[in-house]
Amino acid sequence: MRILTPGQIGCCFGVKRAIKLTEETLLNKKPTYIFGELVHNATITRELSKKGLKVVKGIGDVKGGVLIIRAHGISPDERDKAAKLKIEIVDATCPIVRQAQVVAQKLEEEGYQIVIVGDKNHAEIKGILGYLKKGALIVGSPKEVDPKKLEKKVGLIFQTTHSIELCRDVLAEIMKTAHEIKIINTICADIRKRQEDAVELAKKADLMIVVGSHHSSNTIKLKKLCLKYNTNTIQIEMAKDLTPRQLKGVKSVGIIGGASTPDILIEEVKRKLKESG
Ligand code: SF4
Repeated sequence: MRILTPGQIGCCFGVKRAIKLTEETLLNKKPTYIFGELVHNATITRELSKKGLKVVKGIGDVKGGVLIIRAHGISPDERDKAAKLKIEIVDATCPIVRQAQVVAQKLEEEGYQIVIVGDKNHAEIKGILGYLKKGALIVGSPKEVDPKKLEKKVGLIFQTTHSIELCRDVLAEIMKTAHEIKIINTICADIRKRQEDAVELAKKADLMIVVGSHHSSNTIKLKKLCLKYNTNTIQIEMAKDLTPRQLKGVKSVGIIGGASTPDILIEEVKRKLKESG
């Protein structure tokens, strides 16, 4: 069986940086909290919990100690509340996400209506919204573009992990109405490369395996993208999810991982594939 992988696989630099900062903080043995998961991967969340990281819902659950800001960022409101309570803050926001927050704020100051292509329930989008005075229009797909809600001057940005194809389609829809559109491409370079690699591998392989958590937005998008080019695409969280039935008659397998999928999980999938012949 031929195993096809992209040159670079495993966690992106933003996720690696967030894990490193958190692990270093945990060494200090102070109570350490985080709002939600550091990154969207169950294995990473479990390992950090074992080392003492406490996942909480909000500031009311933080009892002194240290607050880690997750890779997707938080709103300035939440940050201010923590600072007022004299809670030590360790900022693990990915620098690319931080850039998206700054860009959104700047576009608003320039008088643009902010339109973000992304998932309104994603932590990153909620964080960006916290930086805006007038809010933003969030659209996940071209179908969600409502011309009545669009103003003349649109400042368009993207969730850093969104699908390039979807963003392009949303732009085409907005162009039917808006008079002036200023676009800042906030899609992360790592994600752009991952999406390109996924398409390339999906076209070549008999079976395409996307490794990553089922609640990881970028992993779900990789799966959808691969399915477009290879209907024999599956998403698994780890090697043990692979079944002999899925591998029956398969001569070549493409593997791609989400940005928060640790290298070790990919290696385990490769090992299982080699063992199965
Ligand atoms: S995918 Fe990109 S934006 Fe998201 S954490 Fe990784 S480097 Fe940062």
